Amino acid sequence: MILIFCETKDGKLKKSAYELSCLAYRLGKELKEEVSAWVISGAEGEDFFYLKNFGVSEIYLYEDKNLLNFSLTAYAKLLSSLIDEKKPSLVLFSHSSQGRDLAPYLSARYSSPCLTDIVSLEIKEGKILAKKPIFAGKVNQDLEITGKSPLFFSIRPKAITITECAKTEPRIVPMPVSELDFRIKVREILAEVRSLIDVTEAEVIVSGGRGMKGPENFVLLEELAQVLKGAVGASRAAVDAGWRDHSAQVGQTGKTVAPTLYIACGISGAIQHLVGMINSKVIVAINKDPEANIFKVCDYGIVGDLFTIVPLLTEELKKVL
Ligand code: FAD
Repeated sequence: MILIFCETKDGKLKKSAYELSCLAYRLGKELKEEVSAWVISGAEGEDFFYLKNFGVSEIYLYEDKNLLNFSLTAYAKLLSSLIDEKKPSLVLFSHSSQGRDLAPYLSARYSSPCLTDIVSLEIKEGKILAKKPIFAGKVNQDLEITGKSPLFFSIRPKAITITECAKTEPRIVPMPVSELDFRIKVREILAEVRSLIDVTEAEVIVSGGRGMKGPENFVLLEELAQVLKGAVGASRAAVDAGWRDHSAQVGQTGKTVAPTLYIACGISGAIQHLVGMINSKVIVAINKDPEANIFKVCDYGIVGDLFTIVPLLTEELKKVL
């Protein structure tokens, strides 16, 4: 059995749940194993049942409102009892903050191998092969993973394309929730952060850097992002200056994103920023310095003052969208 850890947000499955099920379905076909999903009750009935389009055979459902906020110790305890009972060969997480915590924690508990932040996983001639970007994305490492199961993996968000898989009639298995271990517990998620679209989930990101000159000017990016139904990201310079929350930071010490469209405004294109957004499908850069490094990686470059260009873009896009 292949077990996938499905994350939820505001009662809905995150996109990463579908990415993991697609990947697990492909692996399951090779290994001749079924795919089972671990879901917290927050995902309302019909939403998690949608996993039936992605080849999931069994859904282990945990219903307890205390579980809605992530707790490493509580989740790990419940996951371990499931792993002990079902003995999955592979356990897949998204390389999110939850997956980053859980995958290594559980692998240490089982003394099993763990590979994190991988961008592909496949079975070839019976070998389990993974690809992992290293040195800030400059090199891809090809790895073969061996060792005793369960093998733990965290998969970089958006690295797997979501395609519909075989339709299934998943068995829903309500799981007992008792003796929760809350040594570590998220007590509160601030409303401001929660209301924003998470940059790792967004199809469009409008990011701002030091060139924004101050926090008040980010309203220009918010307006553009709103028209494009996207999220607002930031460079570390903007975050360090206190202009944006760290949850919006893109780059080596922030989040790795791969949206369909990434618009970089007043961002120079330092390598630490590029590694976080280089896999975006289309990159647009707006910068007044024609020599800025960001122009080396963008698909469309606009040389000019962002304070003139961004409002014009917003106006024109409002007309056509
Ligand atoms: P700058 O480099 O100062 O660039 C500002 C740009 O704005 C310039 O190109 C300028 O021409 C342009 N500009 C100014 N005014 C205007 C205007 N009116 N119109 C148009 N353009 C304008 N950085 C990250 O972003 N993410 C990370 O995760 C990250 N992690 C790091 C980790 C380490 C270990 C280290 C050492 C650094 C890290 N950095 C990270 C920092 C990184 O090296 C850069 O310092 C940072 O990305 C620069 O941010 P910036 O492009 O916004 O600012």
